[in-house]
Amino acid sequence: MLNENISAISTPLTASGVAVIRISGDSPLLILEKMFTPQGKVKVKDFQPYRLYPGEFDGGSFKDYGLAVYFKAPNSYTGEEVVEIHCHGGVAIVKGLLQKTLELGARPATRGEFTKRAFLNGKLSLSSAEGLIDMINSESVGEIKAGYSLYKERLNAKTDAILEKLTSALAEIDADIDFPEEDLETLSREKIGELLTSAQEDIDGLLATYKIGQKLTSGVKVAICGKPNAGKSSVLNALMGYDKAIVSSIAGTTRDVVEGTCEINGLKFVFFDTAGIRETGDEIEGIGVERAKKTLNTSDLVLEIIDASEPNPDDTLTELIKDKPYLKIYNKSDLENAKNMGCDLLVSAKTGEGIEKLKRLVFDKALGAKIDLNGDFLTEERHFYALKKAGEKLSFAINIIKDNPLDMASIDIKEAWQALGEISGRSATEEVIDEIFRKFCVGK
Ligand code: GDP
Repeated sequence: MLNENISAISTPLTASGVAVIRISGDSPLLILEKMFTPQGKVKVKDFQPYRLYPGEFDGGSFKDYGLAVYFKAPNSYTGEEVVEIHCHGGVAIVKGLLQKTLELGARPATRGEFTKRAFLNGKLSLSSAEGLIDMINSESVGEIKAGYSLYKERLNAKTDAILEKLTSALAEIDADIDFPEEDLETLSREKIGELLTSAQEDIDGLLATYKIGQKLTSGVKVAICGKPNAGKSSVLNALMGYDKAIVSSIAGTTRDVVEGTCEINGLKFVFFDTAGIRETGDEIEGIGVERAKKTLNTSDLVLEIIDASEPNPDDTLTELIKDKPYLKIYNKSDLENAKNMGCDLLVSAKTGEGIEKLKRLVFDKALGAKIDLNGDFLTEERHFYALKKAGEKLSFAINIIKDNPLDMASIDIKEAWQALGEISGRSATEEVIDEIFRKFCVGK
């Protein structure tokens, strides 16, 4: 296999204390040797793996002082020989040292190429690589956890267990073809049925976690609705802890949907402050109202904000939110004439009273109080569809073996096997693999 050295900056290209340049291939030490003078007696070619060596980097027109480390194949990230240069994070320094590695024979790595090499060298599965992307792009603890679970091959282990059941079922069918005695057949039919049903139950169990898994990655969408001046923008700002939306006592101030993200119990919540939904002659405000309706439709939860000093709910909402999880929040608890009859919670966006309680209530209403985010959830659409397809094929196979020759089920079982194998990458096409690695940044 062509195994030239690739090189890239693995840290963000911005002024920072330290930056890392990574070289992977069959001879990164030869490149390092020509641009690094170790401080001690050990020459670069004699570097022990996994040890940091201090010394001077030669950037051509400049020098830098830092650390170099060698990872010996196959015990490295990519499974190849790897060298890391830890230099100072000045943009010109990092660019200059990268350029030097290129002059010395490395070629610039493409997006995700280090991880792609790791995958091709069997260091991680495709789903593990996807977990890594999710971790890199994570914005909440929930996303980190979900990504880490994928990265640590937890989904892979589960699909492997299902694949084993399918392999056993196929072996049983083969045995039946080889020894087609009558009594053996009945036994096999039963055993294959059990194996396939058990595999399908496992698949259904995984598929059922997708709904929450999606919320873990894309966030829970909460629409804040209510009459103009009820304090929607103020509540959004109070939830965010900073001013995101414009607050004013002139009705119709929020003409478009303003969005703010915050983390509750480690999960990302996206709050949408909608324009008051009301009939309006103002064309621009009208567009805002339409957008607000759309936001309502796609949200997971609706918060209706009502001014507690004059609590008259927004009747226009009733029809729009009838199928949505919904919380009725009275705002302005700090006002003397504030009432609290018939609401889920009384808060004050002005003083912050009840806002933490509101966050907990929102979490419980959107996900159920008992949800444990430490569990494993299906988060990737690709995995969901692969499992769904496998499940469908298995239902066909289960029906077939009821009263047909056993080997008629083989094709569907093999197709289910194939679909499951796409998750780890065992049976994924080149295109799928390329698409996944394109989502990475350069240097990973
Ligand atoms: P929206 O039109 O529903 O988005 O309402 P805003 O957030 O713009 O607030 C309308 C008016 O109510 C502003 O003058 C706010 O200062 C005021 N307001 C909002 N929340 C509170 C609150 O908790 N207490 C009091 N006293 N006034 C509030």
